[in-house]
Amino acid sequence: MNNIDKVNDKKTENDSELSEFDEKHVWHPYTSLSSPIPTYHVVSADKCLLRLDDGRELIDGMSSWWACCHGYSHPHLIEAVQKQLHTLSHVMFAGIRHDPATVLCKRLKGMLPKGLNNIFLADSGSVAVEVALKMAIQYQSARNPGRTRFLTVKGGYHGDTMAAMSVTDPGSGFSSEYQCYIPRQYFIERPSIPFHGEWKDSAMLPLENFLKEHHHEIAAFILEPVMQGAGGMYFYHPQYLVRAREICSRYDVVMICDEIATGFGRTGRMFACEHAGITPDIMTLGKGLTGGMMTLSAVAVTDRISEGISLSPSRVLMHGPTFMANPLACAAANGSLDLLLYEDVCSQTSHIEKVLYDGLRDLVSCTETVKEVRALGACGVVELRKNVDTVSMQRFFVDKGIWLRPFGNIIYIYPPFIITDEQLRACISAVRELVFLLNDGVQTSQSCFSV
Ligand SMILES: *Cc1c(COP(=O)(O)O)cnc(C)c1O
Repeated sequence: MNNIDKVNDKKTENDSELSEFDEKHVWHPYTSLSSPIPTYHVVSADKCLLRLDDGRELIDGMSSWWACCHGYSHPHLIEAVQKQLHTLSHVMFAGIRHDPATVLCKRLKGMLPKGLNNIFLADSGSVAVEVALKMAIQYQSARNPGRTRFLTVKGGYHGDTMAAMSVTDPGSGFSSEYQCYIPRQYFIERPSIPFHGEWKDSAMLPLENFLKEHHHEIAAFILEPVMQGAGGMYFYHPQYLVRAREICSRYDVVMICDEIATGFGRTGRMFACEHAGITPDIMTLGKGLTGGMMTLSAVAVTDRISEGISLSPSRVLMHGPTFMANPLACAAANGSLDLLLYEDVCSQTSHIEKVLYDGLRDLVSCTETVKEVRALGACGVVELRKNVDTVSMQRFFVDKGIWLRPFGNIIYIYPPFIITDEQLRACISAVRELVFLLNDGVQTSQSCFSV
């Protein structure tokens, strides 16, 4: 036994001790440390299944918060990371280049909407949003001095760091606690026409009118293209982006499309901007970038933006995360791009959309409980009339062998693209069963799930 093994041997603790420690001392997201929501102990994961410590297997309908698009333990991704691990696991990026990053940026440039030529690699989605906002401020400081605020639409979500929170819907609960500190930005109505709705140009009036009056204050307009995620899983008409692109150009307002959730095939196109055929000035990427293997994000910008930043007083972009362009993460991302191109992801996600919509759509007949059912790409949503209790919902789904995590009044399925039809139908029937239970509860006016 070598010395490291001896240390580990001493540390071996039983499972109940660890679980108690976790409950007392380890923070989990969006929950209180003194009365945390219960956790399930996952010991391994393969393809579309999460394995719990008691041997149960859950079908993952969440893609681990929308990142794990190729499922778990994909041999190609494991191999890509393992190979890199033996060569170069990390090196600082200032004054140094390495192939995993250069190759990744070159490949991204080739895939992204035309014109997004220059790429900054960061370490998480929220940080990518911070970098995008800093870029816009710096671009404007040379072009249009005095433009220091941001415009966005209601119902959006852009991350949990301070500036990202400032452009996240203030009513969504993500930022309400911190309003005293975060900068005030401008919010207009969310795009009013749904994805499959009939387009009317009057839907642009909020943006037109706002920018006509305030463009001299606005550095950038930031929004999630086509699919608003954590703000309510809402899908809007792509023509909104076409027109927004024109209006932003007219006023030299930087257009930032946050594709952290939508990028890499999720909405049925490689990037959601492709539904509209537009190139934003800045695009943020994250989540599925590494196929959910590890954390990495990217900010892609047009030459106009990068040249503008070079004309700003400091001439350089002052941002350099320690783990910028981590080679392991870049290797995982390169592996994930191989799979996306090889597996024809857009036909996979279009197929998932059809199965989801066919399986869920008649739930609208539960009119007292269900407000709307919709699907786009690999995302199916049942919007309820009332908020539900995440903890009891989660317990219900785990008992059915499914991993889903509803929030607010939204129950949704957001599976890895490799999910089988059988697994997808199991997720759908669990959601159906839950909705019928809720609906019976409404009718007898005592639902066990409402808060
Ligand atoms: C998740 C998300 C973010 C934040 O990404 P993190 O990696 O969690 O920091 C930003 N924007 C959108 C649209 C997201 O869905």
